[in-house]
Amino acid sequence: MAEALIKVDQLRVIYNQGKSNEVRSLDGVSVEIYAEEYVIIYGPSGCGKSTLLYGISGLQAPTYGDVVVNGKNLAKMTKKEKVQFHQTNIGMVFQAFYLIDTLTVLDNVCLPKVFRGENLAERREAAMRLLQRFGISTQADRFPSQLSGGQKQRVSIARALVNDPQIILADEPTGALDSESAQNVLDIFKDINGTDKKTLIMVTHNPEHLVYADRIIHMKDGKKVREDINTDKRPIEIKEKNEKVGIELTNAPEKISAELRLLMRTFKDLSLKQVGVLLIPFKAKQLMTHILSQLTDEQTSAAESLLKELLFNNIDNDTLKTKLDLDMEKGGAGWNKLRAISFANRAQEIIENAKVIGQHDEKSLIIFTDYLIRICQLKLDAEALLRFRAFMRLRIENKIDRFGLEQKLDAPRRNGGVGLYRGTVDKVIRETEMIMLLSYSAESH
Ligand code: ADP
Ligand code: MG
Repeated sequence: MAEALIKVDQLRVIYNQGKSNEVRSLDGVSVEIYAEEYVIIYGPSGCGKSTLLYGISGLQAPTYGDVVVNGKNLAKMTKKEKVQFHQTNIGMVFQAFYLIDTLTVLDNVCLPKVFRGENLAERREAAMRLLQRFGISTQADRFPSQLSGGQKQRVSIARALVNDPQIILADEPTGALDSESAQNVLDIFKDINGTDKKTLIMVTHNPEHLVYADRIIHMKDGKKVREDINTDKRPIEIKEKNEKVGIELTNAPEKISAELRLLMRTFKDLSLKQVGVLLIPFKAKQLMTHILSQLTDEQTSAAESLLKELLFNNIDNDTLKTKLDLDMEKGGAGWNKLRAISFANRAQEIIENAKVIGQHDEKSLIIFTDYLIRICQLKLDAEALLRFRAFMRLRIENKIDRFGLEQKLDAPRRNGGVGLYRGTVDKVIRETEMIMLLSYSAESH
């Protein structure tokens, strides 16, 4: 009998331990999962499914107990080993997709490769192959907001696969989808388990999904209550798997901000430095498309290089202005003065607000929301202003996602929303997501 790929031994996750509000999310769960298995973690809402999945991923540290993957105890890994583990072994898919709205579909899929420092041509090729496989290659240059939920989830599955990990973890991946898109995701999962031989662990509370799995772990109140082997599906054949994953040391962060933790969950990379440095070309590119239209490719890419310099703090905003205006032959971007000034001012405002929202205090919240009110020309009375600020705070603190914010801004006043027009909501969201992208790991440069 082969060794289990994943061994969860008496895992306990206790929040607020010893306090009156103590929650035992996981209360001593032991599970063994073998290479190439398709396992479903099943149970009612709040029973600890996600906690178990995050425990397996290493994103949730045990209060007690052990999680061993490929013979390695996650708790004993150095942070550096964990980074490598995430990049190499784990792909994650979430109910809420967690795509970056300001990146194209292709760039979203490429991101995990960016973190591994692979070259542009290689990572685009790998990403395009996955997009083709999932029938969304024609969407490659679009942005997530232009896609249906089903398409978004296929993008996020492509992102989870792009580094070719051994294990795919999915947390209610069909939870936000209509039944046709949900079926499509289930078919894809069947294929990546059956054909690609990925070890697949899916969390669900939908009993209709159970037929797909080799094995079902039933949970209730933080405990495993039963395990079913689904012999109808196919007999489990556990193959000897001897490939050991070489764990290489890379730089890892000392402190991880809430934003980065979200990014980390999304992109399997924990390195503050890597995120800070490697996102810069993307940030520059996005800032470009955000602000600009109608320039030649040369003018655009020259300006993009300048933005990179600005984001790396190699030049200041005045130099940006001058260089944008300068002829290309003289090393500038060949724009005109007016456009250079208004562009540089806009970039500066956005960058400043990215710093502002990193402060996480009352004053910065007011500066940021006042900025949005001005730039998006919002007209808010006292009550709406209070709500607007409260919802923006939740977004900045990552307590709600882009979709949550969209709902709150869009919902009528009588239902507790801000009651903005649809088009206005889109403007606020786009501006906010842009600023949030720039603010990721802003402290590192
Ligand atoms: P499921 O995914 O099955 O719906 P979860 O694993 O998300 O359940 O949560 C299990 C329990 O742990 C729930 O009661 C939840 O409220 C609680 N819980 C989860 N995360 C936290 C946290 N950060 N602090 C306190 N309680 C939490
Ligand atoms: Mg859950």
